Amino acid sequence: MKILYWLRNDLRLHDNEVLAALPAHTEALLPVFCFDPATLGPDRYLGLPRLGPHRLPFLLETLADLQRRYAALGSGVHFVFGNPANELPRLARELGLNTVWASAEHPHEETTAETDLAAALGRGIPLRFFETLSLLHPHDMSIPVRQLPLSFSKFRFDVAVHTPVRPALTAPRQLPPLPAGVVPAPLPTAAAVAEAAGLPAASVSLRDARSALPTLGGGETAALARMHDYVVDRRLIARYNDTRNELLGEAFSTKFSPWLANGSLSARQIWAAIDDYEAVAGRNGKGSQQLRMELIWRDYFRLLARRAGADFFRLAGLRGQQPKTPNPDRAAFERWTQGRTGNGFVDANMCELAATGFMSNRGRQNAASYLIHDLHQDWRWGAAWFEHQLIDHDPASNWGNWKYIAGTGTDVRDTAFDVAQQAQCYDPKGRYVRTWLR
Ligand SMILES: Cc1cc2nc3c(=O)[nH]c(=O)nc-3n(C[C@H](O)[C@H](O)[C@H](O)COP(=O)(O)OP(=O)(O)OC[C@H]3O[C@@H](n4cnc5c(N)ncnc54)[C@H](O)[C@@H]3O)c2cc1C
Repeated sequence: MKILYWLRNDLRLHDNEVLAALPAHTEALLPVFCFDPATLGPDRYLGLPRLGPHRLPFLLETLADLQRRYAALGSGVHFVFGNPANELPRLARELGLNTVWASAEHPHEETTAETDLAAALGRGIPLRFFETLSLLHPHDMSIPVRQLPLSFSKFRFDVAVHTPVRPALTAPRQLPPLPAGVVPAPLPTAAAVAEAAGLPAASVSLRDARSALPTLGGGETAALARMHDYVVDRRLIARYNDTRNELLGEAFSTKFSPWLANGSLSARQIWAAIDDYEAVAGRNGKGSQQLRMELIWRDYFRLLARRAGADFFRLAGLRGQQPKTPNPDRAAFERWTQGRTGNGFVDANMCELAATGFMSNRGRQNAASYLIHDLHQDWRWGAAWFEHQLIDHDPASNWGNWKYIAGTGTDVRDTAFDVAQQAQCYDPKGRYVRTWLR
């Protein structure tokens, strides 16, 4: 069998169902990463590159690391620009590959890309999907995704607690060879990818010394090092429940999100690390329990995106809630993006985002609430800005959290934050605001 592996947000060797399923007699494997101008380029609300100045270098570091890891196992990674539904069938036919394998995604645009690819491949080249992105395997749940409860608590207690987490799969020791005669196209330069995304090359970010992100950079090697450091070496996980709402420094939360978002770290691998930690430290630690819960939140948004399809990205509520009618004011929105609203706590968070591509969860909640409930702007503009800026952008987590704060997700309660009170509670001495507004 000769296989084309469409690399998506599964940029790792460890716990990878696609690689684990390769038959021993696989004649050839061509791993291909596609830079698709449609998913890199302008978003529909702001017209900004979706692959922004922070995620772009992180993605290229990730791919460089992946390339090294694949090469060490006798394989390689081939890079193309274009729509996967055009590029992959062409490659498969030219090289006589029999089948295309890929990780299944959950949000609407990604599942549409899957349908388009299946149609373009036709019956002659079967397309096979694997689940590599979530903690819980959808096949192990007691309900089909279309019956997912529209309540996180109900999902957690009725479904998630009864769904076993499968053990993380070990990384392969060897990979099948590339198809005969194929010399993989090299990793493109940042300038070439920036051009395809419509991003001015000069805007690609440099590191800011105030960043809360660890200095490790993109890729599976860095991801596994951070996980080991956080859980095993420094045992920061023990205090996670006490520190996770803080705002400054690399240690207050895991910062796993950029690696989880492009799949260079697997949620099941983190779960296994928590199991190992608890085997020694005991099962009652609040830190490890809370981290497990956050990973279940992440799954919930993925499953919800799958269940809701295109509705997940719409203004309207998932439970028929009437969205507050936005009062479009582009100048007010621009001031919010630039950290010039006049509210110091919001502005500091927005400056951190622009400088580093990261913002704490506490910051994200307040900045989003302020845009929606104080400035009365369309939450989708905010989500599009976050998509452009966040180094850890993940469609399900980003749009799902925005929808929740807009009061149009699964919750019908008022989700507005009292930003002044939050600033007082989480930044009582103004240290965070001074760090970013100086
Ligand atoms: C408006 C808004 C937009 C967001 N956009 C994104 C996004 O694009 N990508 C993203 O990964 N997260 C997003 N989040 C969720 C959360 O803020 C980040 O996952 C978290 O801040 C990342 O830092 P961490 O890895 O140190 O988190 P930790 O606190 O260490 O949590 C560990 C992991 O749990 C998951 N997690 C934690 N909180 C949430 C949550 N509320 N929703 C979903 N998963 C969660 C993440 O995978 C995270 O890496 C958003 C939250 C808000 C309020």
